[in-house]
Amino acid sequence: MGVIFKMDKMTYDVVIIGGGPAGLTAAIYASRARMKTLLIESIATPGQAVTTSDIENYPGFTEGLNGFELIERFKKQAENFGTEFKTGDVKGVEGRKWDDSIAWRIESEREEFLSLSVIIATGARPKKLDLPGEDRLKGKGVSYCAVCDGAFFSNKNIAVIGGGDTAVEEALFLTKFADRVTLVHRRDRLRATKILQERAFANKKIEVLWDCVASEILGSDKVEALKIKNLKDGRESDLSCEGVFVFIGYTPNTSFLKGIVKLDEWGYVITDHDMKTSRDGIFACGDARKKLLRQIVTACGDGATAAFSAEGYVEHLKAGRV
Ligand code: NAP
Repeated sequence: MGVIFKMDKMTYDVVIIGGGPAGLTAAIYASRARMKTLLIESIATPGQAVTTSDIENYPGFTEGLNGFELIERFKKQAENFGTEFKTGDVKGVEGRKWDDSIAWRIESEREEFLSLSVIIATGARPKKLDLPGEDRLKGKGVSYCAVCDGAFFSNKNIAVIGGGDTAVEEALFLTKFADRVTLVHRRDRLRATKILQERAFANKKIEVLWDCVASEILGSDKVEALKIKNLKDGRESDLSCEGVFVFIGYTPNTSFLKGIVKLDEWGYVITDHDMKTSRDGIFACGDARKKLLRQIVTACGDGATAAFSAEGYVEHLKAGRV
């Protein structure tokens, strides 16, 4: 005989944690498959896609796309299929015995929900440099989001720290506002993809300081300069600038999952190809999971797969076959 579930209105087939491309795609697929779907999104931490200035490698959009607009479209599509939305930061996920099986209790700041399955799509947040002056001058010239803050730096000088896709892409975006953008990179070659490198080298407003690291952000109540050390010759200098944008990679938003699902040494959730984690009923997708390529298009693929896997899991659970 199958497991008999006492479903009530607070019990979902799937709760998706995270409202970026991965979570929203999972929501579109899950609610279109007629699963009772809740998506919990954080308002405190805007996702990377929302804060991306210009997305030009999402297939089918030759003119480029604004990240905020793209996410709004995803959301509307999920709503149309019946996804419920709540805002809040999830604090914990805990297994609850449910007849012969397990359901998941998801706790956010003010509410808790029960669900037969969970999809983790919490993404990752920008890493900080942990330099003297960084916290004190955050919002006073120190920023981690060019789309949010770039316009404050019209005709000013900006330093961008990092050498990956994000740093170079956002440095290019910041040239729309700033007089000069100095890219400070710790090595003698960029990590960013070749097309972005070519554009940066061709842009007269961008200068690259190779083999250099920042050691302090200077300024009393706003950024005035960046203290820089050249790693080759050991020389120190002050780069005069009004803004410091930090793009040195990301940390996955998975601390609430410690001890619940297997994480790798950096905190990324380990999944198989079907987005299953180490625990039955918990799936993960997008930038929060261990994977090779973190892009909107791969996040969408992950999200669709996670929803499909969760649907199969829940169907079997309801039929008592898990
Ligand atoms: P990333 O690829 O990890 O690059 C981080 C950069 O910051 C590297 O150049 C690294 O230097 C530097 N860095 C790291 N820690 C540092 C420190 N403490 N001090 C100084 N520099 C430091 O991160 P990302 O650029 O944010 O990209 C993240 C992912 O998103 C990547 O997979 C990327 O391809 C993807 N992405 C794609 C696009 C696109 O396709 N258009 C746009 C944005 C992001 P080293 O090079 O020496 O390691």
